[in-house]
Amino acid sequence: MKHKTFEEWMTYVRDEVDEKTRVEFENHLYECDQCMEVYLEAIERQETSFPTVTDPDGFTDGIMAMIEQEKPVTKIENPRTYAKTKFYQKSVFHYLVAATMTLLLMTTGVFQELMTIVTDFENKSPKESITEGIMKETFSFVEEPNQTNKEANE
Ligand SMILES: [Zn+2]
Repeated sequence: MKHKTFEEWMTYVRDEVDEKTRVEFENHLYECDQCMEVYLEAIERQETSFPTVTDPDGFTDGIMAMIEQEKPVTKIENPRTYAKTKFYQKSVFHYLVAATMTLLLMTTGVFQELMTIVTDFENKSPKESITEGIMKETFSFVEEPNQTNKEANE
């Protein structure tokens, strides 16, 4: 039996061999532990050498250029001012909405109606269901660790 060299196994790992050679190499692997070891070494070598960067400086520059392009520099000249304006605009917007709503509700007497609805809801809502909900929550909380313990024991 003719053993293969490390270089030969490298060509096999890199998939640089033709179909006939590949089959021959594979058959040899089944029969030969010695070559299996060399083959595994070849795989290891191939894995460590796989991400080859031929031009490290150019590679870094390329990535930096990509990051620069991602930055929306043209849109915002001063991020701090932009954020402040955004927040101010938001606050004003919410204040206006709130003021408008309050005015509307006051003038249409919806506040009065809302109060009635809330009181109705409080009277009608069964207190037990809330308690049940809390009980369920508590039980599920207690049950969960037991469940995991059971699974761990199995
Ligand atoms: Zn061999």
